[in-house]
Amino acid sequence: MNLHEYQSKELFAQYQIPVAAGTAIKSLDEVANAVAKIAEAPYVVKSQIHAGGRGKGTFTDGFKGGVKLAKTADEAKELSQKMLGNTLVTKQTGPEGRKVQTLYITAGVDIEKEFYAAITLNRATSAPVLIVSSEGGVEIEEVAHKNPKAIVRVEADPVLGLRPFQARLAAAELGLKGDLAKQAADFFLKLYKLWYEKDLAMIEVNPLVVTKGGKLVALDAKVSVEDNALYRHPELAALRDLNEEDPKETEATENGLNYVALDGNIACMVNGAGLAMSTMDIISYYGGKPANFLDVGGGANEKQVETAFRIILKDKNVKAIFVNIFGGIMKCDTIATGIINAARNIDLKLPLVVRLEGTNFELGRKLLAESGLKLVAANSFTEAAQKVVELAKTS
Ligand code: ADP
Ligand code: MG
Repeated sequence: MNLHEYQSKELFAQYQIPVAAGTAIKSLDEVANAVAKIAEAPYVVKSQIHAGGRGKGTFTDGFKGGVKLAKTADEAKELSQKMLGNTLVTKQTGPEGRKVQTLYITAGVDIEKEFYAAITLNRATSAPVLIVSSEGGVEIEEVAHKNPKAIVRVEADPVLGLRPFQARLAAAELGLKGDLAKQAADFFLKLYKLWYEKDLAMIEVNPLVVTKGGKLVALDAKVSVEDNALYRHPELAALRDLNEEDPKETEATENGLNYVALDGNIACMVNGAGLAMSTMDIISYYGGKPANFLDVGGGANEKQVETAFRIILKDKNVKAIFVNIFGGIMKCDTIATGIINAARNIDLKLPLVVRLEGTNFELGRKLLAESGLKLVAANSFTEAAQKVVELAKTS
């Protein structure tokens, strides 16, 4: 689960990690108050969406920049008016963009130099890693591509955590000396403490800046919480912003289904994450494009099967459905009944290819064959995949 910049900065403040003062607002009436809390101009008005590249983004009405500097309180209000309720398109949002419903009004900082800092888990070594770069403020992917040597990784021991000497090493790698090196080491240690204690998947600070006054400050903050640990942090779970999530994915989670929307036209309903992944692979292999990943789980019941159908059909791009179920814990006849009821209840019109394998598969296939539904029953995985790809092309 991702947090907004303003939420991430509130967490930073709890851990005494330096950020510029700021307030999140949801309406224009709040701008004056937010500005008044900042000691002096300039102010920066920042669109709060779960996507990076806001500074260089463009709103759908042509207004440029989701992060803008204002010299006066009036200007801050004008900018807020342009951004609030407007849709911002950045490199990370996709062409449809994201509606800006919250702004962060913060103090404008005189930047001397921009750095990059992040902490995440290196899954290859199962160790936390602090990543720093002297090339901050720009896209880190671009730095990784053009100048990989400018990115430094410091791996922490999973038990001991990031040690002070490692934090000092990272500061030295950024070319920082004296008091700034001390500030940076302190910054990294606190960042690590936050990452560890809150079970975060990732913290990214881009840019981390040195101000003209010689202070190190996080100007941007992106936090992503490890979903599997959310139950341990109700205070973080409460920060969830459903406006930023695909409603189909939210509904799926609420019904114990694991759904991820994709941009193809073949809807998949599969049990087991591994089979779901290979289903997407085989669809691609035969020249099709999956519209989603959907794992209904090992023990899905009839109702969940119906809910799953409803969710995958909300995607208007879908041209055909591929049900690929291996009856292990679940019996194939139960699944067949679920499919038949769901197809009838929701008046399914799209071509449906079903492949059932496993416990009671004969009975399952018989039920489908006798159901009167217009579906294609396939006996093998490859046959099913080929058929559904073909049907998606012609329907
Ligand atoms: P994004 O990464 O989504 O574009 P950032 O928060 O990084 O958003 O802002 C983009 C750029 O705007 C930063 O790289 C920085 O140069 C500038 N900026 C952001 N916040 C401030 C601030 N408080 N004061 C001065 N400049 C800022
Ligand atoms: Mg940034």
